[in-house]
Amino acid sequence: MSDADKEKPNPYEVALAQLDRAAKVAGVPQSVRDILSQPKNEIIVNFPVRMDSGELRMFKGYRVQHNNILGPYKGGIRYHEQVSLDEVKALASWMTYKCALHDIPFGGGKGGIKFRPRDFSQGELERITRRFTHALGSNIGPEYDIPAPDVGTNGQIMVWMMDTYMNVVGFTDKNANRRVVTGKTLASGGSHGRETATGQGIVHCIAEWARDRRFDLNGATYTVQGFGNVGANTAKILARTGASLVAVGDWKGYVTNGDGINPYKLAEHVHKTGSVIGYPGTHSISRAEFFATAADIFVPAALELEIGIEEAKALNVKLIAEGANGPTETAAEPILRDKGIDVIPDILANSGGVVVSYYEWLQNKRSERWDLEEVEERLAKRMKRTYLAVSEYAAMKKCDWRVAAMAIAVERIARAYAERGIFP
Ligand code: GLU
Repeated sequence: MSDADKEKPNPYEVALAQLDRAAKVAGVPQSVRDILSQPKNEIIVNFPVRMDSGELRMFKGYRVQHNNILGPYKGGIRYHEQVSLDEVKALASWMTYKCALHDIPFGGGKGGIKFRPRDFSQGELERITRRFTHALGSNIGPEYDIPAPDVGTNGQIMVWMMDTYMNVVGFTDKNANRRVVTGKTLASGGSHGRETATGQGIVHCIAEWARDRRFDLNGATYTVQGFGNVGANTAKILARTGASLVAVGDWKGYVTNGDGINPYKLAEHVHKTGSVIGYPGTHSISRAEFFATAADIFVPAALELEIGIEEAKALNVKLIAEGANGPTETAAEPILRDKGIDVIPDILANSGGVVVSYYEWLQNKRSERWDLEEVEERLAKRMKRTYLAVSEYAAMKKCDWRVAAMAIAVERIARAYAERGIFP
């Protein structure tokens, strides 16, 4: 984002503070809290890649496998210049809770490479991706650890990962290895509805919230931070309810138009120019002005820890639906609560992506192709069911929704540990 120098806390400490609160409310044994406070495996690989210029360049890649008591490690691969071990550890742990919350038979993992993908050609991106996959070797696998897209990666990158894995690592029974990654393109074994799934899931949550609060989305206003896959799809799908996008920002800056911004046309502008800046009919605003924009709903869909104390004080909205993973600092949470701002936490709000990843994995495993309606119907049902579970848990335990969502997840994990015990 344009505020690259903003001092941010350590994301893993934020994740640990969330775990502690949830473990207390869930009343799980200290041993479970201790197990979840460290990932099972932290893999770091350094590898050389030949650039278009002919020179070699070194890259640092990560794969953190947080927990697999409920199923294979699952989670995205991020390409970004700020990727660090503690960031990937935090993101991997949130995947564990996200899958457990939905009762999907997956654990949690996350990976990434520290570099700025915009500065590289397609050929370079392909070589970086293939070399990284090769370096990970059998640390990933269709029943062991299943990557997916995240910030800076997409279906094409997943297909390169799959192809490399199939041809180099999983040499036997090649086709059975297709599901080693999800979020692939449709032509190469991806699922209908996967690309829009995270945005669609966020809008299901917002629609449920509006129904509970008897709030009319038609005529409501919203702001979105980040206009990648999650931000753009959320903005587009939410517009169909009759709500209007009044401010938006990305890595380059923020723009506003109180009369509404057409997210479909904005996406075309971003496709052509690389950012939201300069979109006709809007004017540029500062990051501080963006956070102070009056609207009904705010969807953070950029990087983690964008909502600190200052931003929480400035926010003038009724609801925050967390599209990004970990967008809210621990210290910002009580401020939002005191202001009466509802928060639909990341592991619930943005979980549509991994839910449809699970459907993609199942389709690959069974050699099936579900049509879009089937995927969307299943996603809608699951999102609504989990939303209701979180809202009921929060009401029962009188806790906030983040704690409720994480406590449901931690309880499920604790039950599995109680039954299986610790080896040996
Ligand atoms: N990167 C996405 C997330 O943070 C999707 C993960 C997946 O589909 O495995 O939830």
